[in-house]
Amino acid sequence: MSEQITTNLPDKATGQTEAGNYFVSNYPPFSFWTPEQVADALAVLDRPAPTDVDLGLYVHIPFCRKRCHFCYFKVYTDKNSKEIRRYIDTVLHEMRQYAATSYLQDRRPKFIYFGGGTPSYLSADQLKELTDGMKAIFPWDDAVEVAFEAEPGTLTENRLERIRKMGVTRLSLGIENFDDHILELNNRAHRSEEVHKAYDYARSIGFDQINIDLIAGMVDETDANWADCVQKTIDMQPDCVTIYQMEIPYNTTIYAEMKESGKSTAPVADWHTKRRWVDEAFAALESAGYTVTSAYTAVKDPDRIKFVYRDALWTGADLLGLGVSSFGHLGGTHYQNEANFGPYLEKMEASDKAGAAIYRARTMQGEEPLIREFILQMKTGHVDIEYFKTKFGVDVRERFSRQLALLADAQLATVDGTIQLSRAGLLQVDRLLLEFFLPEHKGARYT
Ligand code: SF4
Repeated sequence: MSEQITTNLPDKATGQTEAGNYFVSNYPPFSFWTPEQVADALAVLDRPAPTDVDLGLYVHIPFCRKRCHFCYFKVYTDKNSKEIRRYIDTVLHEMRQYAATSYLQDRRPKFIYFGGGTPSYLSADQLKELTDGMKAIFPWDDAVEVAFEAEPGTLTENRLERIRKMGVTRLSLGIENFDDHILELNNRAHRSEEVHKAYDYARSIGFDQINIDLIAGMVDETDANWADCVQKTIDMQPDCVTIYQMEIPYNTTIYAEMKESGKSTAPVADWHTKRRWVDEAFAALESAGYTVTSAYTAVKDPDRIKFVYRDALWTGADLLGLGVSSFGHLGGTHYQNEANFGPYLEKMEASDKAGAAIYRARTMQGEEPLIREFILQMKTGHVDIEYFKTKFGVDVRERFSRQLALLADAQLATVDGTIQLSRAGLLQVDRLLLEFFLPEHKGARYT
């Protein structure tokens, strides 16, 4: 191959895990979202409602029992029930304001996502209050998916029953690892015994879909333990398995410790090892009858098991993001809410205007919507050429011919009637996606 695939990711030279973001979740990068563009997001709300764009709701629950050492989200481990009630009231107030705008009035969500933080940190009563309130504002009758993230140690039978009653169709369990020593060392709140208890009860009350999250490369992970985690996952027979490769962004406890001790390498496995672990997990899952459907997921029955939230977002659906630091996307403009708890509450409580909590935004311009959808579709390992021709009038094989030739030369993809990533390409797709960014976005710190 005549030209190397160059990225600004830290594993380029050595393969060691250094500080920085690996996972690409949106485009353009967040560092290009600005307070100056908040006016664009607010202007969208005055437009007439579109008739051909699906709507989703994302509700951010920023509370956790403990802060995991690898966590890069803004989470709060010290809020009491009074503060949580206030937060729920504020999210409902925020939602009511949006529901009164011409862009969102009378629209019905097709999918709903409760993310965090830990949504299952809320008590059964708090969950009821939140979801009854939400349903009164945006009825869920037409929603095809209600997804809910849960930390196994919070899932009492009472709480699981409430979650089921809320209409949750996809329960996602953040298990991450089955070894108590590794869970403890990484400051994870739950232990393996709680995993099995929660899973068995969740199964018995009949969720449509249960997903298990794992992380390849937590501190102290070994070949033997990883193989054991994969086997235990297969034994549980979840509908879907999601595996992330451990990254160490700058706002993690692990990075703070690295900085203090003057280390540039994180105390976790290198990227080659993490890719190998995911590769081995995918191979074992395939042998057990699962199908790999993206760089991170394997599902038991791909005809039945869908992830509507992900697929709708990746193809340009509107997402109304609610709550502190939540991300949304309306009418071609990305936005993010105020990232700190107190200021979020204060801004919302002081205002009767929709969008009062938005602190930065980015309206996509020129080729950005095309690139966004292209890179997100690459994460599935397969790009539908006709989709891009129909939607954008562009043959992506021509538009990205230089980058695709590099991938093909390195045997990371094949390009003919379609674009198909090889397994090696899929396992490092986030690293490769940076090649497809516009030049002005390439050097961005991806946070
Ligand atoms: S449970 Fe998730 S959101 Fe909460 S601290 Fe751990 S990684 Fe962060």
